[in-house]
Amino acid sequence: MVLKLLVIINFCKFVEKINMGRAMIIGAGGVATVAACKMAEAPEVFEEVLIASRTKEKCDNIIKKINKPNFHSAQVDAMKIDELSSLIKEFKPDLVLNLALPYQDLAIMDACLKTGVSYLDTANYESPDNPHFEYKYQWAYQDKFKSAGLTAILGCGFDPGVSQIFTAYAAKHYFDEIHFLDIVDCNAGDHGKYFATNFNPEINIREITAKGKYYENGKWIETEPLTIHRPIEYPEIGEKESYLLHHEELESLVKNFPSIKRARFWMTFSQRYLTALEVLQEVGMTSIEPINYEGKEIVPLQFLKALLPDPSSLGQNYKGKACIGVQLKGLHQNKERTYFIWSIFDHEKAYKETGTQAVAYSTGIPAMVGAIMYLKGLWKKPGVYNVEEFDPDPFLETMPKFGIDWHEAIDIVLPIDK
Ligand code: NDP
Repeated sequence: MVLKLLVIINFCKFVEKINMGRAMIIGAGGVATVAACKMAEAPEVFEEVLIASRTKEKCDNIIKKINKPNFHSAQVDAMKIDELSSLIKEFKPDLVLNLALPYQDLAIMDACLKTGVSYLDTANYESPDNPHFEYKYQWAYQDKFKSAGLTAILGCGFDPGVSQIFTAYAAKHYFDEIHFLDIVDCNAGDHGKYFATNFNPEINIREITAKGKYYENGKWIETEPLTIHRPIEYPEIGEKESYLLHHEELESLVKNFPSIKRARFWMTFSQRYLTALEVLQEVGMTSIEPINYEGKEIVPLQFLKALLPDPSSLGQNYKGKACIGVQLKGLHQNKERTYFIWSIFDHEKAYKETGTQAVAYSTGIPAMVGAIMYLKGLWKKPGVYNVEEFDPDPFLETMPKFGIDWHEAIDIVLPIDK
């Protein structure tokens, strides 16, 4: 009897152990702060965590806040593949979470291949001198990851990220065919600053000032920046003017759900934000073309980034809510079906839990839940995948445990159609 009990206890310990792992976070901004704080809430999964970034002091500040002996910090320039590979070899993580910038995606994927470690990120690769994103650069790593037996999980934030997991969930449980997809993203919070961005200012402004794009009947339609807009009703927030943008997950969603006839992405901006942005654009402050200033070469957008508030510092006075969701139309058993799935975020709640605002919160938690999916073996398959290619159920079961609930409504008049 005692022997039997011992065998059971040892087996349970073994199962516990195989669901645990070592995670290495690269980057120490708002998103990394949230992911690390939430990893500290799951010691049964995250055995050891290393936060490595360009500025070690920022990693140390996160560690100080968490105050757990299994969290460590290091300095690394992720663009230097050899330097990064040495650190990976030294720490021996099971998974590298790239929570730095999209510029580092390919270098970090290369370092992962070199050291035999799986990879996860929250944003599609972009080259610093070309404000344009496309998955082809990361999808090109498919065979390399497959033959190395490693997994690369692309775009595991909220949008990209949960927006695709919501779509995969809808496709699995409610639709035979999805025809129309609208991702709606509203931040109705107020941080009290005249002008600030909610995540890295350089990446954010590049995205918003780029041309809009949507998918219709097999073609991509490009529009001038922010020219298509309309009011959309958001749960718990109300009606907000929403602007059509190109967003990276549209590219993978139309590939992975080929029945989609139209796919669009909408985001809200306040009039004050848009006016300030227009002035900055008109005077050349958002340009990425280097200029010569008193004998020094500077990039205006990088200079502007240095002047703007650090997004991770906005949390303290941020009030109000944000809502991100997916509205779908299609067929179920030959009948028309509509479906809306969404999450609501509260800036004050995000600050209380992690010291950051809700945009970092809404990105860091999915990244950390994605890491749990990988470490538990639920999202482990050799190759390079967007998140909608994994089982959405365990992810959506786990996410609320770390602070993000979700809601759904079936066969309603979609807010986008009102
Ligand atoms: P921040 O700018 O706050 O943080 C980026 C961090 O990366 C900084 O700590 C920075 O270091 C570090 N870093 C930059 N370059 C390097 C490098 N070469 N080597 C090592 N570290 C480097 O960004 P956020 O936390 O706001 O965003 C993180 C990521 O999340 C971005 O890619 C962003 O696009 C993405 N994101 C995704 C969303 C989604 O829903 N999917 C939503 C919001 C953001 P230093 O401090 O020295 O500059």
